[in-house]
Amino acid sequence: MSDTTPPNDLYTLQSWLETPADSDFPLQNIPFGISSGSHHPPRPCTRIGNQVIDLQPLAAAGLLEGLGMDAAAFDAPVLNALMAHGKAGSRALRHRLIQLFRADHGMNDATLRLVQAAVQPLDEVTMHLPVAIGDYTDFYSSREHATNVGIMFRGPENALMPNWLHLPVGYHGRASSIVVSGTPIRRPMGQMRPKADEPPVFGPSKQLDIELETAFITFEGKPLGERIPAAEAADFIFGMVLFNDWSARDIQSWEYVPLGPFLGKNFGSSMSPWVVTLEALEPFRTQGPPQQPEPLPYLRTAGAQAFDIRLEAALKPKNGAESVICTTNFKHLYWNMAQQLAHHTVNGCNVRCGDVMASGTISGPAPDSFGSLLELTWRGTKPLKLQDGSERKFLEDGDTIVIRGHAAHQGLRIGFGEVAGQILPAQ
Ligand code: CA
Repeated sequence: MSDTTPPNDLYTLQSWLETPADSDFPLQNIPFGISSGSHHPPRPCTRIGNQVIDLQPLAAAGLLEGLGMDAAAFDAPVLNALMAHGKAGSRALRHRLIQLFRADHGMNDATLRLVQAAVQPLDEVTMHLPVAIGDYTDFYSSREHATNVGIMFRGPENALMPNWLHLPVGYHGRASSIVVSGTPIRRPMGQMRPKADEPPVFGPSKQLDIELETAFITFEGKPLGERIPAAEAADFIFGMVLFNDWSARDIQSWEYVPLGPFLGKNFGSSMSPWVVTLEALEPFRTQGPPQQPEPLPYLRTAGAQAFDIRLEAALKPKNGAESVICTTNFKHLYWNMAQQLAHHTVNGCNVRCGDVMASGTISGPAPDSFGSLLELTWRGTKPLKLQDGSERKFLEDGDTIVIRGHAAHQGLRIGFGEVAGQILPAQ
């Protein structure tokens, strides 16, 4: 049981646990999350197929020894203590779990029974926010999204601001209102100015929107005053989640000058419960878009820095059928995660274990690949037609948004599951 080296049979590896062929969670994924069940409080787990594996009993049985992690890390309501061991720790833990759950596990019957006792059906557990989030940053790294929004608000000549092609633009968001998938989102109240020549009004947002994003979660970074070079960035990234940055456009458009997003954003952001490690995503690395002009030296990266992750957003009206409203891909992002982290720390800003860095809305080149209703309906001028015959400019009460994502290559599929949230009426 001491082997923590990566499997060399990545594409053929099978688990003794049943895994549906189209599952996002084969043995090669081994994401991390926090689950609770009828007999245990929230604590770390992983998932294979539709089974959730509680890590605390495995640790208690001595099956996770030799990884440098103490027992308390497996009995905590967030993953931060496990993440304190950095990339080497999470990699060793994943490889140990793959060893325990691969078809040719080599365990005796008594050990196998101990492992089996840690397996629970997915529908018998509750998933929780995976990490205690210290800080949350949201980037704005899709050229297509920034261009679309720029055209709508400033015209095609000034679509991209002069800084956009030179640095990954971002802002500091609010960590306290990030919620796990399945948590309802209350329509925000706020101040807005629907008519430019009249005074502002107060009321429920009438332009409630989604932003299809991913986010990465960091390990402990370097001390305050030191920077993380782009070439080292991957060592500080634990993994990725799906992210919905709910946005109230009418509140946002009135408040954002000159300091940027505030109450139009911080009423809620939703995150998928499974953190998919960068290691699991390695087979899906691909080239990102060409960058012209060439970025400054601190932002230059070599090799394939994007990931081929197919993303979609679906809208399900209350009591209605689901309609897929957007199909896009993570690889469209202009600025990659290494550049985002290098830029974030280039002034000496320190990142901490459990910080969340979201990508910004991921729009692709095609009109059905736009990652927000703002773009899909072109500011409400082209309503979307849904499966049930109804139309949407922005979200209505009772609507549920589901964002899904997975990567697939040569029969290997690694996915995130979904992040979902339903809109509740304003209060
Ligand atoms: Ca955003």
